Order: sequence, then C-alpha cells, then structure tokens
Amino acid sequence: VSASDTITRLVRDIADFPEPGVLFKDITPLLADAAGFAEVVEALAEPYRGQVDVVLGIEARGFILAAPVALALGVGFVPVRKPGKLPHETTEISYDLEYGSETLQLHTDAIGAGSRVLVVDDVLATGGTARAAVDLVERAGGTIAAVAVLMELSFLPGREVLGDVPLHVLHTF
Ligand code: 5GP
Repeated sequence: VSASDTITRLVRDIADFPEPGVLFKDITPLLADAAGFAEVVEALAEPYRGQVDVVLGIEARGFILAAPVALALGVGFVPVRKPGKLPHETTEISYDLEYGSETLQLHTDAIGAGSRVLVVDDVLATGGTARAAVDLVERAGGTIAAVAVLMELSFLPGREVLGDVPLHVLHTF
C-alpha cells in the first residue's frame, strides 16, 4: 500500500468548510489511524534522511506532521506561527488570501545561516502559506531542501507560486 492510497482512503471531504463553496480535506481520520499516520510521516521524511538540518512546521496542522518527521530524520523542529504566538524576537511575512491577508512569524534565531530546511505542511492549495514559510527561511539565511506536503490541490496555483522550490507531494487531487 502506498502513502498515496492511504491518503485517498483516510482523508475525507467536508463540503462547505470553513465557508460555503470550499471542499475541505479533513486529515483527522488519517491522524487517528496509527498505521496510516506512521506511513505518511515516513513517506514525507524518507527522501531527506541525512539531507536536512531542521524541519519547519507551519501552524497548526503542519505541526502535527512536521514534529514526527523531524524525529524520524533525527533533526530539530522549528515552528512558524500566526502573529503573537512566538515569545521571542520574530521576523514576519504577510501574504494575501482570497479574502484579506495572513501573517506568519518565525523566531529570528531559529534558523542558522546555511541551515538546510525541510518545510512540512498538510495541504498545498494556493501556495501562499508555503511561499511565506520559504521566504522566512531564506530571509533568515537558511536553504530550502524542499516543501513536503501530504496533498497538493492541483487545480490551484501552489506549484507555480513555489517556482523552483523542490516540492514533495504524497498525493495530488
Ligand atoms: P494555501 O496557502 O496554499 O492556499 O493553503 C494552505 C494552507 O491552508 C495550509 O496550511 C493548510 O493547512 C490549509 N488548507 C487549505 N485548504 C485545506 C484543506 O482543504 N484541508 C486542510 N486540511 N488544510 C487546508
């Protein structure tokens, strides 16, 4: 069984969440399945064994995946968070959403110069979130090894927004 099949089986569609017209990919059944959760964590991590110095997770679902990926790779975990959550000095980036905007923050001392960083999140949709995380890492002097996600929504422009950033996708919808 591949991680892609497992995602097809254990991620469910929720219509009209968080707002009308959106079909939301709900990963909670996957997280609740011990074998499925372990399989996708291993599939996210596997290409980067010995290749990265840190795994960066994006609040909030990204944390759930990035922390075990970091443990699997034997490296540390760094959080990127919504404003006002990180206690130390931060650097931040704002980006546009369909309605309004979002801001993400990173501790200024979280990424060492030249550090190789794997960015992990659950879903790549418009790409705004992953792009902001990549830009925060690069601004801090880190190098992006890849952006790794469970799912890419290929009818949205996330891949183009990431440009030449390497992308590791377990399942494409
Ligand atoms: P983007 O910035 O690429 O448009 O959206 C990606 C971010 O929004 C990710 O952090 C992801 O957690 C969240 N997201 C967008 N759509 C979905 C979805 O259908 N399911 C889940 N689980 N997260 C989503």
